[in-house]
Amino acid sequence: MTLWTLGSINADYAYRVPRLPAPGETLAAEGLMRGLGGKGANLSVAAARAAARVVHVGAVGPDGRWAVERLMEYGVDVRHVAEVGEVTGHAVIAVAPDGENSILIWPGANAAIPEAVRDAPLAEARVGDRAVAQNETNGQGGWLATAKRMGLSTAYVAAPFDPQAVGAVLDVLDLLILNAVEAEQLEAALGRRVGDLGVRDVLVTMGAEGCRWHGAEGERSFPAPKVEVVDTTGAGDTFAGYVLAGLDRGLPMVQAIGQAQVAAALMVARRGTADAIPDLKEVQDARL
Ligand code: ADP
Repeated sequence: MTLWTLGSINADYAYRVPRLPAPGETLAAEGLMRGLGGKGANLSVAAARAAARVVHVGAVGPDGRWAVERLMEYGVDVRHVAEVGEVTGHAVIAVAPDGENSILIWPGANAAIPEAVRDAPLAEARVGDRAVAQNETNGQGGWLATAKRMGLSTAYVAAPFDPQAVGAVLDVLDLLILNAVEAEQLEAALGRRVGDLGVRDVLVTMGAEGCRWHGAEGERSFPAPKVEVVDTTGAGDTFAGYVLAGLDRGLPMVQAIGQAQVAAALMVARRGTADAIPDLKEVQDARL
């Protein structure tokens, strides 16, 4: 089957700085690394590395062709990534010697995905395919509703967190993935436990503690493998991509979670984002 991701594609500009700049200060950076980022793109790469057939739906500006090529090199189908007249979404990341950082994000083309670009791909989808969105693009609610109507299984990654955005998609969701902080905020905003949202499966990730699954048979916890933490960037996206790819390959939820936690643990044990996401063989061979 196929996983359809409506998701952000960002250019990440990471600047090495002697310290984080103070208000009003102009500071020369000592190094620059440009990489592919964006929660949507990371999720698509993770799912492709986990052996799923992945079609990414999204948009970049004329300055983002390299990012689309990078996605393609990771095995993601990019036929439905449009080029629009906005700058490509980007993150400007200042990283100090002690690892502290400050990040500025501009959504750019991610917030200007034309409706036709979003909806046309779903006409190619088959019943039983999966559709996943997260909160870095425009039009997620309508897209997931259309996907559901067409017989796809729908998932939403509630990041960056906005209770209204989650509330708007709850009725059409089969799977909701969020971290522990987001789960608490959602429970406070809606006055309901995450297990009582009417969504068939809810996964709450808890960093080094692992994750919880709220499903038809109640709540179940899964400890994370123990690893030395180097860089947690992209752990959540890797987890989500691997869960969805596992389900798509027909794994039961428990096994999909198991692989996702190994993949995410390998990811936090090394530096990098898309480049650092392990492939399925590495996950299957890992002894953590
Ligand atoms: P997010 O990055 O979205 O906040 P989490 O921090 O909860 O998400 O991490 C997502 C998943 O990544 C966790 O469920 C776990 O499987 C894995 N993970 C994150 N941090 C660690 C860690 N320190 N050790 C092992 N696994 C981790």
